[in-house]
Amino acid sequence: MELILKNDDVIHLLQSIKETNSSYTEAKESEIKTFASSQTPACTLVMCCDSRAHSTSFTFNPENNFFIVRNIGNQYILNQGCIEYGVRVLNTPLLIFLGHTGCGAVKASMGDYSNLHSSIIREIDHLALSIKKSDINSTCSDVVQWRDAVINNVNQQVELAIKDFHDLRNDKSLAIIGMVLDIDNSRGEGYGKISVVNLNGETDPVKLANHDFVKSFFA
Ligand SMILES: [Zn+2]
Repeated sequence: MELILKNDDVIHLLQSIKETNSSYTEAKESEIKTFASSQTPACTLVMCCDSRAHSTSFTFNPENNFFIVRNIGNQYILNQGCIEYGVRVLNTPLLIFLGHTGCGAVKASMGDYSNLHSSIIREIDHLALSIKKSDINSTCSDVVQWRDAVINNVNQQVELAIKDFHDLRNDKSLAIIGMVLDIDNSRGEGYGKISVVNLNGETDPVKLANHDFVKSFFA
């Protein structure tokens, strides 16, 4: 512990937790009281654990709005129970899978990851299946293949969720959306830009661009 506390990054981080939390409780106390006894989020959100991908990229008010499930590669299967809870118990009308460019988990799944710890291999395996299934153009550069694999992975997660929540889709009480946070600007729309890549199974970029929902919120 002594050694860790000589690390400047650790010291700054710990100081920041205390200071930020003091500001947070001061600014948000009355708001916190409104949801202290129960939660009523509007969105179940599945995103990657990556330290560069955070709710700060899309909301200043995550509390009681986003029921967030995080795992490596924003996968459906790894935390099915949490997602089921958000969608069917908390009744969130939105289920969003948010992938991100530069995703290390997706990258690992595209190559040989047998040297990783067994617990990590087990979680990457599900991703590798989805990457294998998807249509990656091997003549493109590594960066483009990686970017496309990120998008295809999001599409695969949406596809799996659509199967399990088809009843809610049929009665139009749930929208399942795939998004990508472009951390490294490999999609060319700006660093940190979020775009919709899948809306209830629709992945055609032209159709998405002309869809009323996308035009209303993401144009
Ligand atoms: Zn990631």
